[in-house]
Amino acid sequence: MPIEIRQFPCLADNYGYLVRDAASGLVAAIDTPDAGAVNAALAREGWRLDFIFNTHWHPDHASGNLALKRKWHCRIIAPEGEADKIPGVDQKTQDGDRLALGETTARVIATPGHTLGHVIYYFESDGAAFVGDTIFALGCGRLFEGTPEQMWRSLSAIAALPAQTKLYCAHEYTEANARFALAIDPANAALQARAAEIGRLRAQGAPTVPTDVAAERAANPFLRAGDPGLQARIGMAGADPVAVFAEIRKRKDRF
Ligand code: ZN
Ligand code: FE
Repeated sequence: MPIEIRQFPCLADNYGYLVRDAASGLVAAIDTPDAGAVNAALAREGWRLDFIFNTHWHPDHASGNLALKRKWHCRIIAPEGEADKIPGVDQKTQDGDRLALGETTARVIATPGHTLGHVIYYFESDGAAFVGDTIFALGCGRLFEGTPEQMWRSLSAIAALPAQTKLYCAHEYTEANARFALAIDPANAALQARAAEIGRLRAQGAPTVPTDVAAERAANPFLRAGDPGLQARIGMAGADPVAVFAEIRKRKDRF
C-alpha cells in the first residue's frame, strides 16, 4: 500500500511535509519548520503524529520538534552527526538505515554539504525522496559546513536515484534559482522550457515543488558540472566536475 503525502507552506518559504503509511495509518512529519502549521495540517486530515524525521539541525527544520512532541508524544529521529543540536531526539539515524513507518520503509541517505550531518529520507517503493536543503528545484543548498567535494557526491547520489523519483525540497526557491540557472546555462533548451513553466506556476501562486530527478538532471546547473557545454561556457572546459561545481556554487552565492 502506498504512502500519502501532504505538503504545506511554512514560515517565509519553507515547505512542511506529512507522510502517512496508508496500511497502518502511521504519520511522520519530515522536519518541523513551524509546529502550528504542522498541527493545522494534521487537523485538516484528522491525522495524529507518530514520528518526526529531521533532515538537519537548522532551526527552520527542527524548531517545532519539542512543541509537537509535547502534544503528540511522537518519536523523533534525527541524523547521528548532529543529533546533539536537534531538540528532543529519541533515535539517531545514519546512512544506510531503513526506518519503518508502518509497512513502509524509508531509506536514510547521508548527504553532507549544507550541514555535515544532513540526511535525506527516500521512500523507495513510492518513488519519493525528502531532500531537505541538499537539492532544490534548479538549485542546491549553500555549503555552510561541508566541502564542495562532499556536496557534489551528495548531489550525485540524488541524481542517481531512478529518473521518475519525486524530490520534495524544503524551500520554494525555484524562481530565483531559475534566474541564476538561465544566466549560467542559457543555451539549455530543457532549462528554458522549465523556467517558462515555473514562471506560469508562480504567477498562479502554485508550488514548483516537488520536482523530479529527470527534470533536475536536465536543467539543474549544479548537477551539470560535468557537462562539456556548461564547462566551456564558464571557461572551465575539461575541468574536474568538483571544481566546476565549486565555481558554480561560488557564482550563485554572489548572484
Ligand atoms: Zn538548512
Ligand atoms: Fe532550510
